[in-house]
Amino acid sequence: MHSFYTFSLLLATISNSVLIGFLFKRAINSQILSAYIVLVLLVNAWAIPQLILNNIPVANDYFIQIDKISAIGYIFIPLALIKFALAYTNRSASSKRLLFIFLIYMPSIIFLYLAWNTNFIESRNVQEVKSFPWGYAVPTGPLFPILLIWFQSVSFYSVYTIIQMYRKTHDIIRKKQSFLLIIAFLIPLLFGAVTNGILPAFHMHTLPIAIPLTSITAVIIAYAIYKYGLFEVTSAEILSSIGNGVITINKQKEIIHINNYALALLGLENKNLIDKVMTEVFSIRSDPQSISKDERFPIPYVLRTGEKIKSHDFILRTKQKKTFPIECTITPIIQDNNVIGATIIFRDTTKEKIIEQSKNEFISIASHELKTPLTSVIAFSQILESRMEKRKDKLDLYFIHSINEQLHKIKSLIEDLLNISRMESGMFVLNKVLYPIDTLIDKTIQDMQYTTDTHTLMKIGKTNKKVSIDIDRINQVLVNLISNAVKYSPKANKVTIRVREIGKDIVVSVQDFGIGIPKKDQKKIFKRFYRTRKSQHSKISGFGLGLYICAEIIKNHNGRIWVESIPGKSSTFSFSLPITK
Ligand code: ADP
Repeated sequence: MHSFYTFSLLLATISNSVLIGFLFKRAINSQILSAYIVLVLLVNAWAIPQLILNNIPVANDYFIQIDKISAIGYIFIPLALIKFALAYTNRSASSKRLLFIFLIYMPSIIFLYLAWNTNFIESRNVQEVKSFPWGYAVPTGPLFPILLIWFQSVSFYSVYTIIQMYRKTHDIIRKKQSFLLIIAFLIPLLFGAVTNGILPAFHMHTLPIAIPLTSITAVIIAYAIYKYGLFEVTSAEILSSIGNGVITINKQKEIIHINNYALALLGLENKNLIDKVMTEVFSIRSDPQSISKDERFPIPYVLRTGEKIKSHDFILRTKQKKTFPIECTITPIIQDNNVIGATIIFRDTTKEKIIEQSKNEFISIASHELKTPLTSVIAFSQILESRMEKRKDKLDLYFIHSINEQLHKIKSLIEDLLNISRMESGMFVLNKVLYPIDTLIDKTIQDMQYTTDTHTLMKIGKTNKKVSIDIDRINQVLVNLISNAVKYSPKANKVTIRVREIGKDIVVSVQDFGIGIPKKDQKKIFKRFYRTRKSQHSKISGFGLGLYICAEIIKNHNGRIWVESIPGKSSTFSFSLPITK
């Protein structure tokens, strides 16, 4: 029996040592791994002195010293185990709490002190120890049962935290890892509790099998490392460390993953939000001014349609009613053609918004300040022009005419900048009236025809319908589209303006036969400052503001604006306005 027990302890020691060697080789600088290595080292520190003392004749002087090492082994196992369990379940912070110090650190030190220096835990009398049959009985002291109860409670609590993780995690790999860890720890703990503690307490002595069973633990852990990458960084941990918010929800809008950035932004760092319904924790809305319902409630939209949504202008509202501007992408998770959830990736854009706001304020103030002197300069130069007309000096007249033309360009640029800053700061107000759009188009075409002698502006179609519009603003859109059409078709000689009723809308299109717009640019040209490469390279001047302003105006009329184009041939800009009933 003695040699069998020696053999089983030797086996456990070897398998644990192989495991340690294996783990050291991985040398990942992680708390989980280091706690685990310490745990296995402690098991060996418990087992090896036992092997030596019972198989090699050791002088009495050394006997107690070696036996003391064994005490370090078993007394510190609960500490290492709970540290490992807390690190594995992402609760390392708990091991810094006062309660932890009282319940774990202090008892470990006290028990070790007692085991080394007194007979309260185990006998320090060499003769007495040697007289006991090895394995079956230990000459224990009166406080040994307390140590045993503490040992088992801390160890089972550690396993319990892993069981909790197993139940809660949605990460399949983590689930499998946790399952194997639970089995691996429970085997020596349960059988150890019976053979090393419960039976001896009733004076029934069998072989204590806690240490031998750690060979099975070592094998299971090795399997978990090999099969499920135990101790490796999991994808969930990678997601957690990303500097953007990442939240994954299922179809029922329950949170199945949330990373650290998101938790910090929500102000819920230490809360467990897994399985909580998202709407109880936060909501994501688009700008309240946006009209379409889908845009206002982007998450239900993505879950319903399986379409991805991306926006710079969403607002995240926490349960504490704090709001943050965020840039956000909501991507559906699709399995078997069904939407089973969505991943929300977002970034707090508060700082950028503040910078943008001060930039807008600057533009607004600067353009305002420029506008006043410019208006009087234009007035004076017009007076000068009419005086020169009377004098009939052709060269002077040519100069002053050019000056006036350039001044008007500056004026319209300043007006564009002013419009933009008004739009960005939400001060863009429309004065809508019910008006026959046809009349407006005819008048605009008439005025615009005066500004060009290279192109003929032709109108096709007619409508008698009235629409609710801000006349000046829709005029501005038409002026912009028509002047672009002329500007970007230098070799053509006509521009067509078409009016149609399509369903519940009136659609106005401006078609030119000019340089056209490549497909990849067609959506972007409605953005601020965007100009196509071709228009940049050709000498056609511009700032890329006009279409952005047009798009904002049309959006504020509940309409749509779009472009169709054949590069090198033609472009057709259209906008729709809902017919007022
Ligand atoms: P700007 O004309 O001042 O650059 P816009 O916002 O009006 O600014 O237009 C943005 C860009 O869209 C232009 O720079 C040009 O590249 C392209 N674009 C606009 N209208 C046309 C058109 N009719 N044909 C070809 N390209 C156009």
